[in-house]
Amino acid sequence: MIEIDGSQGEGGGQILRTALALSLVTQQPFTLANIRAKRPKPGLMRQHLACVQAAVAVGGANSRALAQDGSPVGLGATHLVFQPGPVQGGDFMFAVGSAGSCMLVLQTVLWPLAMAAQPSKLVLQGGTHNPMAPSFSFLKHLAPFFAGEGPAFFDMTLQRHGFYPAGGGEVLVHVQPPPKGLAAIELIERGALLEARAEALHAGIPRSVAERELGVLQRALGWGDDQLHDRGLRSNEGPGNALQVILRHQHITEVLTAYGEKGVGAEDVARKVLGETKDYLAHQAPVGEHLADQLMIPMALAALRGKTSQYWATTLSEHTRTNARVIEAFLPVAFDMTPWKDGHLVRTSKT
Ligand code: ATP
Repeated sequence: MIEIDGSQGEGGGQILRTALALSLVTQQPFTLANIRAKRPKPGLMRQHLACVQAAVAVGGANSRALAQDGSPVGLGATHLVFQPGPVQGGDFMFAVGSAGSCMLVLQTVLWPLAMAAQPSKLVLQGGTHNPMAPSFSFLKHLAPFFAGEGPAFFDMTLQRHGFYPAGGGEVLVHVQPPPKGLAAIELIERGALLEARAEALHAGIPRSVAERELGVLQRALGWGDDQLHDRGLRSNEGPGNALQVILRHQHITEVLTAYGEKGVGAEDVARKVLGETKDYLAHQAPVGEHLADQLMIPMALAALRGKTSQYWATTLSEHTRTNARVIEAFLPVAFDMTPWKDGHLVRTSKT
């Protein structure tokens, strides 16, 4: 039984998701104590419980998620015992049941399903564009990079947007496990900038919000009208607003996002994403802060087959460092993180 302390490092929900994913991949049970101890409301919230339930479903009839007293784990739990069952690909439907991110449910089950013998089809319901989570757009653009030099092993279709706090989004995901396992990842250069554009998604709010957001980016970055996209959505997909900047280089695409919320001006939303865009453009490393932590599981799974991966990141967050520790608890791999040219070089290999 692997024992994980949920209060280590970042102390948030990612420790839970990584542990669930790798427990299913390795078929090793684990206990997780102090779940989300460093968050203002510790314990399992609705979206984390949805991840646990999705992991149980993917592990089949022999899979269990129990509280310390042996009862099924529930909302607010700060302790979990997880017993994985053998993973079988197939058709699954997972609903978060709130506006919590359904992309974080995908972050939990994608890796076990990518290592399964059969393909899978997932219907995910909940938030698709949430702060503090990868958005649908982020994962859609970045899916090929998780596959390294191999073909993309999952694709996503957005059926309906879901913004916080209304939720109601739906995403369809097909997972096709690569026959020779995950490929090595090598991301050391961006290559030339091929395309830079901004999209203001808005549903059920005045269109002028999108115009003001895009105006700030246009004035600050000098972008042409063809780079600025006002994407009005059906009003029943809102209310919601996300401003995303997509930077497509030869070897990497980065997606930076800021979200509109009540009481925050459109200009402030735009300035937030503008700051992140300028920082990314001023750097040369291909891997941004969020991709850095999300690449670690596929790199580790590739390392199991002796494939060494590496990337150069603009910055290493506490998420990334904590994820490395949790992955190392499950798999015989080591992450080497070395400061390199104004960023960090991260390498994974089998121990
Ligand atoms: P909490 O414990 O507060 O619920 P959480 O469950 O949201 O936390 P975290 O541990 O904070 O989980 O992890 C959030 C995940 O979302 C990380 O993988 C992080 O890289 C990713 N993420 C956060 N913001 C972005 C963003 N703007 N773009 C892409 N990915 C993001």
